[in-house]
Amino acid sequence: MFMTHLECARTGQHYDADALHNLSEVGAPLLARYDLEKAAAALSREQLRDRPANMWRYREVMPISTPEEIVSLGEGFTPVHHTTRLGQWAGFSQLYIKDESLNPTGSFKARGLSAAVTAAKARGATKLAIPTAGNAGGALSAYAATCGLPAIVFMPRDTPSAFAIECQSCGAELELVDGLISDCGKIVGERKEKEGWFDVSTLKEPYRVEGKKTMGYELAEQFAWTLPDVVIYPTGGGTGLIGMWKAFAEMEKMGWIGSARPRMVSVQAEGCAPIVRAFAQGDETAELWQDAATVASGLRVPGAVGDFLMLRALRESGGTAVAVSDEELVEHSHTIAAHTGIFPAPEGGATLAALLKLKEQGLVDKDERVVLFNTGSGYKYLEALSGGLVS
Ligand SMILES: *Cc1c(COP(=O)(O)O)cnc(C)c1O
Repeated sequence: MFMTHLECARTGQHYDADALHNLSEVGAPLLARYDLEKAAAALSREQLRDRPANMWRYREVMPISTPEEIVSLGEGFTPVHHTTRLGQWAGFSQLYIKDESLNPTGSFKARGLSAAVTAAKARGATKLAIPTAGNAGGALSAYAATCGLPAIVFMPRDTPSAFAIECQSCGAELELVDGLISDCGKIVGERKEKEGWFDVSTLKEPYRVEGKKTMGYELAEQFAWTLPDVVIYPTGGGTGLIGMWKAFAEMEKMGWIGSARPRMVSVQAEGCAPIVRAFAQGDETAELWQDAATVASGLRVPGAVGDFLMLRALRESGGTAVAVSDEELVEHSHTIAAHTGIFPAPEGGATLAALLKLKEQGLVDKDERVVLFNTGSGYKYLEALSGGLVS
């Protein structure tokens, strides 16, 4: 409706919004651009009140030409809980959890894949391929099943079993790979042309980030058109971080929010922390992490094509990047569960572990509004979460 074109995140070169695209000519992500003036004239903040409670309530700033195209399972508009007991435990008066585990397929990957499958189908893709650390494969399989497109998923063999079963149950082809998500990505890259697959890898197609940016729109709407002071986000490919940062800029242009921004904090696991290392070194891009290992499979992403966009957002926001150990992130998954009743993914536990480190370093004030992102459900990670429990 209001999307005008795609833009290369490195060179600014324009690309046609109606065709299927992966990376730009220089190998950078393509970002969707909209006529935000027209979008703001068509949709006011007040009108949102009457919209269904899912991410397509922001459809004027989503990559569709008609609402009939939308491939949806009701993703988005997840609750933000003021977690007072957890806040007391951690020493914060305004601690919130945005609970993304309530999305279809149990993680926020649903947002990205709802948008990507919608856009790919509308633009004529006939088979979708994805490399995954776990949740993205499940989400692609689900949305492909919803709209009847075939899908093929490449997943590391040692991914928790729930992810593989979910893909197969939804009817996707599954190939288990002896390696990491980066090895899976290589296979998709090598075979896609010959096989006629459309590659829906994170940030290698333009629209998963459009789905995930709705988390930024929701934060603003749920905080009555202000933004919190600090957002703590478990980072793999970085789509959510990049998407929220994009959403804040779009909303400011639409006159929906002012220029204040949260400090964005990226959390990674000590066994795979390329963004934390690059941030600390002042680098613009991140070197590939060798021998990546963590039970938080969503964080086992040794290299990301959007690294420069993540690092830019962290720095522009005045935020930082923190690594936590697997022991800490599992322990604090249980801390979250025991103080809130939310059974988080280990990636969610990582955000609390990071907050405690920031507190120790004096980087977050006890009365600031802090939002932790629980990006997935603990139910898919029973192997990892059964550790650290006292029987
Ligand atoms: C994919 C994933 C992440 C990382 O998300 P990005 O936006 O790719 O950085 C974090 N947590 C969970 C549960 C995930 O599945």
